[in-house]
Amino acid sequence: MDNSAVFPGSFDPITRGHENVILRAIPLFDKIIIGVGENAEKRSMFTVRQRVEWIRQTFLHQPAISVEVYNGLTVDFCRNCGATYIIRGLRTSADFEFERSIGQVNKVLDQGIETVFFLSAPEYTALNSSIVRDILKHGGNPDKFVPQNLKSLIKL
Ligand code: ADP
Repeated sequence: MDNSAVFPGSFDPITRGHENVILRAIPLFDKIIIGVGENAEKRSMFTVRQRVEWIRQTFLHQPAISVEVYNGLTVDFCRNCGATYIIRGLRTSADFEFERSIGQVNKVLDQGIETVFFLSAPEYTALNSSIVRDILKHGGNPDKFVPQNLKSLIKL
């Protein structure tokens, strides 16, 4: 049986922080499915289609990585994909508190799914998608914060 993991998130847009976690997870799993959550309550800057396209472009040469859109519970998405692991990143203690409750609830919802956490690389601890969105909103260049493959591609 495949040892597959889902990396769920909004990826609005994908950053070097996300990319770093995913690249570090590759040796641990046969397959990683990046799940772009369509969340009705969270307004996004970029369409799901655009977010997926940028993720594909980032991992063009990584056959173990695929991208899918999902609605609803992450544990249901994992079951549909045949994945038994959820990957999440931890930057700060605030991330930890947030992730702990989600991880513990997911464990109650499905005992067979384990959440694994990656500490952010120090250089990406301050990075999140909203920083990239703010740079774009104010006409700046976000290239230093988004994957190399997306250089000059992420625009409003
Ligand atoms: P969500 O809306 O689920 O928080 P995000 O796209 O913001 O989705 O993040 C998805 C995952 O990536 C989360 O686990 C988040 O902690 C992690 N992550 C985001 N930015 C970084 C970063 N700079 N370093 C490490 N992990 C990160």
